[in-house]
Amino acid sequence: MFFDGCAQNGGLGGESVMQLIAVKAEARRTPLNMHMELTYRCNEQCVHCYCVVEHGREAEAAARELTYDEIARVLDEMAAMGAFYVTFSGGEVLVRRDFFDIVEHARRRGFAYRVYTNGIGLTEERARRLAALEPLTVELSIFSADPAVHDAITRVPGSFARLMTAVARLKAHGVRVYLKTVVMKQNLHGLPEVRALARTLDVFTHTFTCEVSPRIDGDIHGPSKYQLSEDELVELFSSDALPKETPEVFEGAPPEVARERTTCGPAVNGGCIDPYGTVFPCVAFRVPMGNVRQRSFRDIWEGPPPAIRDLLAVQHFSDLPECSSCELIGFCTRCHGDNLLERGGDWKACHQRARATAAAKERVYQIVSRAGKG
Ligand code: SF4
Ligand code: SF4
Repeated sequence: MFFDGCAQNGGLGGESVMQLIAVKAEARRTPLNMHMELTYRCNEQCVHCYCVVEHGREAEAAARELTYDEIARVLDEMAAMGAFYVTFSGGEVLVRRDFFDIVEHARRRGFAYRVYTNGIGLTEERARRLAALEPLTVELSIFSADPAVHDAITRVPGSFARLMTAVARLKAHGVRVYLKTVVMKQNLHGLPEVRALARTLDVFTHTFTCEVSPRIDGDIHGPSKYQLSEDELVELFSSDALPKETPEVFEGAPPEVARERTTCGPAVNGGCIDPYGTVFPCVAFRVPMGNVRQRSFRDIWEGPPPAIRDLLAVQHFSDLPECSSCELIGFCTRCHGDNLLERGGDWKACHQRARATAAAKERVYQIVSRAGKG
């Protein structure tokens, strides 16, 4: 399966009951699906990471993080507003000593949850404890089936071996393991092997994305140098690595239909809270809505600042002038947040990275169409 990278866009599942709930939540602007970044500290230092705290600055970062009591209060407030689905991510969540206390509190409040982890700190005892708290999925990144390539991206020798141990432990405890791959220049040619490995490991699912998000600290050029070029995207989309069960990737909708597609929905049925309490419309759209240390979550959610009201007014591609007249609209899955980070402003304009991906899909679509007629 192909994925486009964000927890919010990943949504609440494709099943009909969940879709109905999501539609109602969107209509009422209920924060159903929240993303909580518990820390930016990490025991890996992935070259492309959008948020990681540099080694040596962990203590300073930890001192600023929300405490367990603050997080528990926010979870209570979110639950009272109808939230029932939370993603815990980092950094690396397991570097927080109170990680299990936080998850236990979320479960007491009735949240379904998923966890993003690199697996490095997942001891047998932690795997057992996590399984007992019944996550929907535990999601781990795998960059290559070649340990040397994976370790070069995480910058931690032995991280691949520890990832494999974590997967085995989680599976042994009956946890649904979800593997994810960011395809970049360094691992472009290794995707078939990763997919084969995922099948051998018998994980719940494996997805990949080609989108490398900018860093949230303003260093937009750091991770982007790993992003595939348009020609490399064409190579990937044309290869046998792409699952054949995802033809929609190449089936560009006619422009008149594509213009009326909804865009992604930051701050509509969910949002993101960073480790320091700032609420954002989603993981990528880094315009602060407020901070839970200063105002209640309800107050922040229900009284968004003007910039967020402007964002909420954009619901369809037709609300964006450049997109409305774009020849690639049927192939485009733009990300307002990444566009904001890349441009440092004017996020309604064309998202150039999405354009490269859309152009690559269109080229492959033409190749496949011509082959079909031949
Ligand atoms: S390629 Fe640019 S202008 Fe076209 S639909 Fe995508 S973001 Fe909009
Ligand atoms: S702006 Fe980007 S990260 Fe945010 S919801 Fe849209 S696609 Fe997802």
